[in-house]
Amino acid sequence: MRIGFTTTIPVEVILAAGHVPVDLNNLFISAADRNALLARAEKRGIPVSTCSWIKGIYASVMAGEVDSVIAVVEGDCSNTSSLAELLEHEGVRTIPFRYPRNRDRAALREQIESLCQVLGTTIEQAEARRNELMPIRKRLDELDRLSWSTHVIPYSKVRNLQLASSDFLGSPMKFEARLDTLEQATGNAGRLKMHAARIAIAGVPTSFDDLLERVRDFGGEVMLDEMPRQFSMPFFDAESIVDQYLAYTYPYDIFHRARDLKEQIQRRRIHGLVHYIQAFCHRQIEDIVLRDLVEIPTLTIEGDRPGPLDQRSGVRLQAFLEMLT
Ligand code: SF4
Repeated sequence: MRIGFTTTIPVEVILAAGHVPVDLNNLFISAADRNALLARAEKRGIPVSTCSWIKGIYASVMAGEVDSVIAVVEGDCSNTSSLAELLEHEGVRTIPFRYPRNRDRAALREQIESLCQVLGTTIEQAEARRNELMPIRKRLDELDRLSWSTHVIPYSKVRNLQLASSDFLGSPMKFEARLDTLEQATGNAGRLKMHAARIAIAGVPTSFDDLLERVRDFGGEVMLDEMPRQFSMPFFDAESIVDQYLAYTYPYDIFHRARDLKEQIQRRRIHGLVHYIQAFCHRQIEDIVLRDLVEIPTLTIEGDRPGPLDQRSGVRLQAFLEMLT
């Protein structure tokens, strides 16, 4: 079965159960007809003033792309519970999953065990799958390190694979083939500017297709994208699947997120932060706290529908990079 999910979940469980994982965000954003998907959701009655990711996920599911949906109803998006109810109403099998807000170990273990049970596997089998995936995660982490430390490969290429690692393109073997290609391209960093302003992106995955390229056009180089890196789970000290998903920052409080982000900012010698926020997203409020906590120059930009960077944001981004260089 193809099992869709609304945000990163323990993918090891789906693989251990012998199913195909499908990150619905990746499915939507890579679709050729993204705007048609948004129109379909709006035609069904989802308000225009709802986040595009929610509308895109809804329409991708309704297009028959998956057999069941794991809906993360705690720790992700305040809209997901309603989305799950709507999908259920439309006849789609939905499976709830919760990241405990307080990062309680026992509660998270219970959630993972319950997911295992529903999908027909055990936490021990998921653990075994985690061990098999570890070398893949380590290879991706090494490419990440090479991209920002030695510049032998553009970070933008690594970031695309980090994004894809939430579902391993449906097949770890397929994903490994993509890793092979990227490793072979090491040393061919293209237009990488060695002395550019070093930029980090934070926030939910951007709906701007060309944000990293535009940063480069304006004299910067993105060396970190917070969430794609998180999706790649570079938590090699984690002793179990539960520890791994406790170390993951996205579903928990902003302070846990900011600690990780600050550490990476220092490690990668980042000069400026671009905080991407999504129109109609409750996480916009986190911008206030994040800006205070990261303690480096920060530009907040907002996007809505998928597409290229809009002109106003482009002007602001250019001015921000000019200030840094
Ligand atoms: S961007 Fe915000 S509103 Fe949209 S799906 Fe993500 S968390 Fe929800």
